[in-house]
Amino acid sequence: MSLNLLYQEVILEHYKHPRNKVPLEGSIALHENPSCGDSIRLKIEKNSSGKIFKVLFDGQGCAISTASASIMTELLVGKNITEARALCFKAIAFLKGETKVSLEYDGSGFQEDTDPPQDLGELEALSGVHQFPLRVKCATLPWNAALAILQR
Ligand code: ZN
Repeated sequence: MSLNLLYQEVILEHYKHPRNKVPLEGSIALHENPSCGDSIRLKIEKNSSGKIFKVLFDGQGCAISTASASIMTELLVGKNITEARALCFKAIAFLKGETKVSLEYDGSGFQEDTDPPQDLGELEALSGVHQFPLRVKCATLPWNAALAILQR
């Protein structure tokens, strides 16, 4: 099986069986990607020590945005807020096909340019997305929604 086929399978599997997709009530902000019609609501639950233990999403989306959201809900678990934000920046850079990641941490003003984004697990199935600018918006939608929540 070629790598491309394998990646397509990962995307389709997450699209058909999205992880952590549950109905979320309307008080949660809706994030939208008008160019494709994707929409997502996101809920990030932390424990008392500030670690993320559950990420839930709801919404309508194409295969790319749904797979990206589904994979994200698994990758963010176990991270503290700083780590989760760093992962979001890294994922967005990866999906855009950027070779460097700028990590900006709230408050401290700390910035770090890392090597090309890697070790993103199943998200690497979306490595071809950056060649299609409209699809980049689909893939980054859930990660931008997470950043909007984590920046509060
Ligand atoms: Zn889309």
